[in-house]
Amino acid sequence: MKWTVANALMMTPVGTVLDNRHITIEGDTIASIENGIEKDNLNAEKVIDATGKLIIPGLINAHLHSHDRFDKGRFDNLPLEIWMAAYNPPTSRREWTEEEVYLRTQLNCIELIKSGTTTVIDDVVHHDLTSRDKIDAVFQAYEDAGLRAAVTITFSDRPYHETIPFLDEFLPGTLKDELQSRQQVKPKMVLELWKSYARRWQGRVTFALSPSGPQRSTDAFLKDVWKMAEDFNLWVMIHVLETKVQEITGYLFYNKSLVDYMKSIGILNRRTNLVHCVWVNDRDIALIAEAGANVIHNPVSNLKLGSGIAPVHKLLKAGVNVALGTDNNNANDTANMFEAMKIGALVNKVTHCKYDRWVGAKEVFKMATKGGSRCIGMEDKVGVLEAGKKADFVLINLDSLPFTPRQNILNQLIFCENGQSIDMVVVDGKIIYENGKILTINEEKLKSDVQQAAERLLAKIEKTSKRASEILPYLRKAYDKCLNLAQVKPIA
Ligand SMILES: [Zn+2]
Repeated sequence: MKWTVANALMMTPVGTVLDNRHITIEGDTIASIENGIEKDNLNAEKVIDATGKLIIPGLINAHLHSHDRFDKGRFDNLPLEIWMAAYNPPTSRREWTEEEVYLRTQLNCIELIKSGTTTVIDDVVHHDLTSRDKIDAVFQAYEDAGLRAAVTITFSDRPYHETIPFLDEFLPGTLKDELQSRQQVKPKMVLELWKSYARRWQGRVTFALSPSGPQRSTDAFLKDVWKMAEDFNLWVMIHVLETKVQEITGYLFYNKSLVDYMKSIGILNRRTNLVHCVWVNDRDIALIAEAGANVIHNPVSNLKLGSGIAPVHKLLKAGVNVALGTDNNNANDTANMFEAMKIGALVNKVTHCKYDRWVGAKEVFKMATKGGSRCIGMEDKVGVLEAGKKADFVLINLDSLPFTPRQNILNQLIFCENGQSIDMVVVDGKIIYENGKILTINEEKLKSDVQQAAERLLAKIEKTSKRASEILPYLRKAYDKCLNLAQVKPIA
């Protein structure tokens, strides 16, 4: 069907607003964007009058973890390393069923759609890589929700106690043996599993690679992952220099920065998405720019976990493409990209008195749209409203409170809006949200299913969290020792 959104105000990638645009959609594609034509003369089967509305490209959440959706709101005042072990101890396995995996992913889908996200990169940890049904449930949840998604099946091949400096030294032998025995899944098997998903999911929902972090995997495995990326035309998500401890880790493990290390083994290239980069130095930034790699900035989780503030201005100035994400449900604790854009536009202002270096509304809007599209090689398809691109967009009602009275629409979009003014969400030419209702998910039923299962779900979380107390005292010692050694790295 050919249909037109007529008389809309349209946001360009640089944040300027064009008026009286008619956007015609044919199938999954934007067929044309015109102006100056009388609405009655439009050649379309259906015309939606968007007078007083703003059309923007669908937002791209470049980093989400849907696996801890049932953990929202559990923690405060814990740094990354301690928080990770507290919420899901490495000695525990979470036995989610296929239905529970589907439920938690669709809960995230509701939040994403209602806050204007049309594309998401979901970095998913599964505790059981032998169950295809559980893994499929994530992909299927996005397929059914009508969202565009790139989904990973995270794997790293080093045992947990070897991924944090000094933990190996402090941890009792019994716990180390147990952690070692958890590494039973072989990298070869995982690569085969990944290949099958890469072949199978090639539509609106696709597969992406994730070896978690450079220090969490062996050189051999990392090289295999990047070879697979090249062979299968895939993109790789990897957490890099999120925390001070990770900065120190590079020097203790490899005698160089983690970014330098990645370059030295040939895994820093245009297929590389470096998640976080809070602790990159000037040389790291130059290397990332030279490699054409992307950085995914997660300002809210970086604040909540006290990780720090990524030097976004420096990255942008060096020519690095920066995208935006919301990160863990349990370290943000929302998946709202309007919030990520606002915090992203605020947090860099406190790093400099020189206000010509501040990151603002214009920059974060680009990060949340065009910036994200490059992380999965879709820059020619999504992130910008142009004829020939996928019809992924959001219609925003400007009669709402955040835009009353209208001042500067871009500034109001970033600093006043939270998703409440969204009128319509379209992905692949299909309306998935309209008049306050998601058309692809029965939201009330889903919420009721989760409420009914809440006791069982929380009991599972409590059961797996019990073992945290065994490991946390040793982890705190390792954490403190790392921070005491902060001087191992010359601060740039
Ligand atoms: Zn992450």
